[in-house]
Amino acid sequence: MREQLVERSCAWCGEPVAYSGRGRPPRFCSPVHRRRAWEVRSAEERAGRPVSEGGRSTDPVREIVQRIETVVRTRVVPGSGAGRVPQAPRPAQRLSGQPYTLPEDAIEWIEALAALRRDAVTNPRVAPFREHIAQACERTLEVLRSDVPGPGEASPGES
Ligand SMILES: [Zn+2]
Repeated sequence: MREQLVERSCAWCGEPVAYSGRGRPPRFCSPVHRRRAWEVRSAEERAGRPVSEGGRSTDPVREIVQRIETVVRTRVVPGSGAGRVPQAPRPAQRLSGQPYTLPEDAIEWIEALAALRRDAVTNPRVAPFREHIAQACERTLEVLRSDVPGPGEASPGES
């Protein structure tokens, strides 16, 4: 009894390839699959070379992430807006270096004053100066209740 190879599976696709019994048994079903297997082998060989010779690094991919902080603040452009009430210069930074702005309009002022009412009791950086703040509020009240025309109200004689 004698054994004889009659069929082998393609080393690329696994499909059966008949063997005639003459010559070297085929490893692939087609020249295309032979070519593909060679491409993979040679690519692996190139990747296995040292990095300096074009090989693939085995180090994990590293990323450098830069943190960019966007600070949005509103500023008033001098001279813009008709009949604008002159405003005190806006401090751009706190003592800590953090930027901040003063309220811009009535709603923001009302919100800021509501925050002051809370902070006057709870904020240790504000509470000790309640009397100073109260005096400033009194001066503010005088101006708010005075007869000075607002920026929206045209004074007599002006158009
Ligand atoms: Zn094949």
